[in-house]
This record gives sequence, C-alpha cells and structure tokens, in this order.
Amino acid sequence: MKRIEHLGIAVKNLEEAIPMYEALLNTTCYKREGVASEGVMTAFFQIGESKIELLEATNEASPIAKFLSKNGPGFHHVAFEVENIESEISRLQLAGFQLIHEVAKDGADNKRIAFLHPKSTASLLVEICQEKSA
Ligand code: ZN
Repeated sequence: MKRIEHLGIAVKNLEEAIPMYEALLNTTCYKREGVASEGVMTAFFQIGESKIELLEATNEASPIAKFLSKNGPGFHHVAFEVENIESEISRLQLAGFQLIHEVAKDGADNKRIAFLHPKSTASLLVEICQEKSA
C-alpha cells in the first residue's frame, strides 16, 4: 500500500456538511461526484497528500443509508492507494482477507476501487484504490 489516499466520512446532508468541513479544513470542496451503482453522492477535499471524501446516500438501499441508520454520521472507511489493484486483491485474498469486490469496480474521483469485508478486518471498513491511467 502506497499511502492513505482518503478517509471516507458518512454525512446525512452534503449541503450542510460541506460548509462545516470547508470551515474545519480551511479549504474548499474541489469536486462533487455521484456514484450511481453505490447510491452515493460524494464531495472531496484535498488535505496535503490525502483527501477527505464525504458520502451522502441518494437512496434508501444505499450502503451509506444503512450505515447512517445504524451508526449515525461520522467516520466510514479508510482508503489505501495501491500500485496495481488486481495484484493487491490477489495478495489480500491469499493472506486470508475477504473482499466485497473480488473484481475492481469504478469509483469516484477517477479511481478503480475494491472494498474489503469488515468481517476480515476487525470491523474496519477498508477500500483499496488505484488511479485510472489518463
Ligand atoms: Zn472511498
């Protein structure tokens, strides 16, 4: 794993959360992007070499809607950048980790992503991501 690419934070309402995080982080949101397949709208902030990703549910079936009803808003997942997501998925499976996505899928912010199953990471939700080549 190369670095912490971003921390994902679940919010109830992006319109309310974005100004609060802009004030907290002293920077402006540089991108908003929907991921229809996950039922989420995201907003990104650059913090040094890492990012903060806010996640709002866009429908009731969204994993974020389920997370919010269980836990309320707050820290959701950590995302590690990897050099090669296919070989990292294989490495993690060989090491005994369970993947939610055994095949990398398209995520927000020009990334290919995969989530590990929290059952195999002591409940920490972990994403691995690789920048799509331009
Ligand atoms: Zn993420």
